[in-house]
Amino acid sequence: MNDYALIEKITNLIGSNNLFLDESSLTKNSMDAFGRFRNNPDAYKNGKVLAVVAPSSTQQVADIIKLANDEKIALMPYGGGTGVMGAITPTQDCISVDLKNMNRIRNISYEDKTATVEAGTILADLEFSLNQQDLMLGHDPYSVPIATVGGAISTNGVGYRASRYGSMGDQVLGLEVVLPNGKILKTPAVIKSSTGPSLNQLFIGAEGCFGIITQATLRVFRSPELRVFKSFLFDNFEDGFNAMTEMFSIGLKPALIDVSEEIPDPSSGSKTVMYLTFEGYTEEVKAQLTRTITICNQRNGKDAGESLAEHYWNTRHDSAYSYKKRFLNGTPEGTLSAEPRRLSEYPHVSIPISKVLDYRSQCKEIMDQRNMHIREYSCWTAPELFSMILVNVDVADESEKSNHESISPVVTEILSIAQNLGGSMEYVHGVGTKLVHLMPQELGNGLSLLRGIKYSIDPNNIMNPGRLGL
Ligand SMILES: Cc1cc2nc3c(=O)[nH]c(=O)nc-3n(C[C@H](O)[C@H](O)[C@H](O)COP(=O)(O)OP(=O)(O)OC[C@H]3O[C@@H](n4cnc5c(N)ncnc54)[C@H](O)[C@@H]3O)c2cc1C
Repeated sequence: MNDYALIEKITNLIGSNNLFLDESSLTKNSMDAFGRFRNNPDAYKNGKVLAVVAPSSTQQVADIIKLANDEKIALMPYGGGTGVMGAITPTQDCISVDLKNMNRIRNISYEDKTATVEAGTILADLEFSLNQQDLMLGHDPYSVPIATVGGAISTNGVGYRASRYGSMGDQVLGLEVVLPNGKILKTPAVIKSSTGPSLNQLFIGAEGCFGIITQATLRVFRSPELRVFKSFLFDNFEDGFNAMTEMFSIGLKPALIDVSEEIPDPSSGSKTVMYLTFEGYTEEVKAQLTRTITICNQRNGKDAGESLAEHYWNTRHDSAYSYKKRFLNGTPEGTLSAEPRRLSEYPHVSIPISKVLDYRSQCKEIMDQRNMHIREYSCWTAPELFSMILVNVDVADESEKSNHESISPVVTEILSIAQNLGGSMEYVHGVGTKLVHLMPQELGNGLSLLRGIKYSIDPNNIMNPGRLGL
């Protein structure tokens, strides 16, 4: 950034130690785990991160936002940079507001089962503090060691224990947010009120469009008395899926459930595994397990013991530790571009239970027509969450060109079908730059309503412009 007057103003607000202008910081804060070489190349033509600022207080966030309004410069909130949809790809020249210094745990109440934390707190740090008091967070994505509370709320992330504890958004009781006009908003941190629409919902899954979350009060949970693991093998996906829907119909609440059909390559056979973890108070855990065994046996499930599910549980954060080592602590751009990988996509749609199996058949047909391969189908945390790993077996090198000429159009087609069947194009990870072109179809005239709200608090359009199609 060459504007010395602006640099001086920012330095006066937050100090020179909290302003970063070096290439490595600018690159790191302009790219999430989606990576430059999976993104729409056009996204990178539009803008770059000019500076990274790391405020230490809500007031400093408000001061930065006021300055951005005066200078008409865009801001982009940055949590852990672990999103997988390109949601921190700059859509125009902007300043990245990195919440890493706002990582204090303000209060944990054992009695109320709440935690009040600053938005830049890493999920694993919060989990550790809660565990000291016989509590736990509940939200448990693979990315616990690297994602922040603010980022998880802003993507409404879904972890592997969501069937029992809900998504990150479900756990939000109250928020402190600095709005794009610089005003500080605090919503009441209550479990329920009947005093109009919940303002929290404006910020959950909003990818920072409506303000910067500085603090959150979250519902947390007692640590379980007992945890048990179990796995079943099924001859086909339908049997595993039907067992899962029956479990949910009668109100079973596993802590972890994943029904996956794994097909390593197009010529191999498939196997369907149900991975299960139950946790809670002892009698409940035992009762859930007993009834699950009955349901799975009735649907031809073969008891595969504990070890498969236990291994799944024990290794669930490994990919995040590896990501942290390879990218977050290194030079992301160089490392990512140097790695040719099999071209793949990992869509997670939300779809009514009655449409899941039909949707699966339609996706298979489309992939077969394109000579592509579906390596895995899964329903995890809920029968309505259907995910797939799609692979283009013909293309081994994940370059900009191959990504956008082969697999992206297929993903768009598959996501549009989910929308047309009454579902949503994404259950877990948000919109980012990856899915923004499908937002008009996703929200219909709801998109203009959101635009109206956005411009009423952000007339200069400084807060994450272009995000969510706003
Ligand atoms: C190895 C790996 C495993 C993963 N596993 C899962 C998983 O199991 N489940 C899952 O849901 N996700 C998973 N993810 C994706 C990712 O971790 C989540 O999307 C996470 O919620 C993003 O949090 P973050 O702090 O990194 O946010 P970022 O990537 O920094 O930001 C995400 C979006 O939120 C906005 N934002 C960030 N902080 C704030 C704030 N304080 N106020 C307003 N806006 C803000 C950003 O501008 C951006 O639009 C995984 C990612 C990796 C790399």
